[in-house]
Amino acid sequence: MTLPVCIWCGEPVHPEEQARDFSNPIHYECGVRSIVGSVGHIHGRCSCFEKDPAKQEDDPPGLTTREAARVATVLFYRLRDRGAAWSPDKCSPNPMRFIRAKS
Ligand SMILES: [Zn+2]
Ligand SMILES: [Zn+2]
Repeated sequence: MTLPVCIWCGEPVHPEEQARDFSNPIHYECGVRSIVGSVGHIHGRCSCFEKDPAKQEDDPPGLTTREAARVATVLFYRLRDRGAAWSPDKCSPNPMRFIRAKS
């Protein structure tokens, strides 16, 4: 059986890894990342906020696309659980829509 390929990271998606609320094959963490943005974006240090290219931050270097998605997901939920204010989002149309993993 051939597994579908994640539209975000390009890796195979096992059925239990599929994010809800998406009609395309996509991992849970890749789905979250596609909405909340990169680590740099969550911190307000991406090109949306920082005009100086030398100071811009996006996904952490040295990670695969899926690993970077996991880091952004963990960071996002950690900040949310602390009640951190969400910075105005200029990348994602609907950042406050949370996706649950398929249980
Ligand atoms: Zn993925
Ligand atoms: Zn951004």
